[in-house]
Amino acid sequence: MNHDDAFPPPSPATRLAHPDDPWTRQGFVNPPVVHASTVLHPSLDALLRDDVPYSYGRSGTPTSEALETALGQLDGAAGVRLAPSGLAAITMTLLSVLKAGDHLLVSDSVYGPTRRFSDQMLARFGIAVDYYDPCIGSGIAELLRDETRLVWAESPGSLTFEMQDLPALAAACRAREVLLAVDNTWATPLYCRPLALGADFSVVAATKYIVGHSDAMLGAVSAGPRGWAALQRGARLLGSCAAPDDVYLGLRGLRTLDVRLERHQRNGLEVARWLQQHPAIAEVRHPALPDDPGHALWRRDFSGASGLFAVRTRPCSQAALAACLDGLRYFGMGYSWGGFESLILPARLKGLRTATPMPANEGGWWLRLHVGLEQSGDLIADLDEGLKRLLSY
Ligand SMILES: *Cc1c(COP(=O)(O)O)cnc(C)c1O
Repeated sequence: MNHDDAFPPPSPATRLAHPDDPWTRQGFVNPPVVHASTVLHPSLDALLRDDVPYSYGRSGTPTSEALETALGQLDGAAGVRLAPSGLAAITMTLLSVLKAGDHLLVSDSVYGPTRRFSDQMLARFGIAVDYYDPCIGSGIAELLRDETRLVWAESPGSLTFEMQDLPALAAACRAREVLLAVDNTWATPLYCRPLALGADFSVVAATKYIVGHSDAMLGAVSAGPRGWAALQRGARLLGSCAAPDDVYLGLRGLRTLDVRLERHQRNGLEVARWLQQHPAIAEVRHPALPDDPGHALWRRDFSGASGLFAVRTRPCSQAALAACLDGLRYFGMGYSWGGFESLILPARLKGLRTATPMPANEGGWWLRLHVGLEQSGDLIADLDEGLKRLLSY
């Protein structure tokens, strides 16, 4: 893109359509998919220099660089590193920063595999892990110890959707020279920019909305200036790299992320509002609903909502729930989310809390819905039939 000073900077949606300059590649609008291990060097002199743009497939290609650049622009990052899955991006961040003797604080509503990696892998390497109330806000200051190196946040929380006060966490961390990482998978860099709110790392499972079509695994970490050197070094040492075709699917997904998220947001809110007044539903957790406890934080810090939220049913048997879910036409049962298709899953919360009580189910079931790109009336009709089966079981 041409940037002259008089012209206003592009909005994120425009940037997604014009992330780089096609005239650096003879006008082809998309970057090539470079499959690479070996990169030849033209001379001994070139081989021995440390500053060559590309040295080996694992260290980066024009394809991976294109996605890193595009995500870096959206996040306002000092640098971005890709990983072969969202979880690999999380573990890469943790391993890049932490060492034996360090203390890590993790939100109690964190994505389950992040908790398991912390407890079962980091603990083995002598890193102390504690969990904190996701709603603690500036109270995090009281949990910071001299050894605390990193605070891990995720907003809204996986399965239970508590919003976190990211600027308050960032201010408390900064005062003690502690780093803050945020799992930003739910909002994507279009609807929340954790680095601009004071975080040092923003991690996304690009598998979800960025790829957006349920056909690839991919992760990315954007780092601010305080985290970039450690991330760059950690990524190099760990040797993890994302596959070129999957990186390309991430780039392709980015082009339509803005319009897809608009539809996920609108559909999600229509379905959530409809469920709110349904007699089989006791509670809806969706931060963009005005009566949600996290709504004020969502309004302040986020510019949109995606299509993922939770509901709690009124008390019912597993058989009644099965009658509802097994017969749904459009809502499939399966892991992951962020694709074009709607999904529904019972949230398995067992073992996922240690610092705060698990939200009670009061005889009902917590369900996580991902509202896809279908027509919302069809989705509501599907749920309507399903909940009738539940109530009349
Ligand atoms: C799915 C998910 C991940 C992990 O992503 P994968 O690509 O499945 O490894 C990380 N964080 C959150 C919040 C997720 O929902």
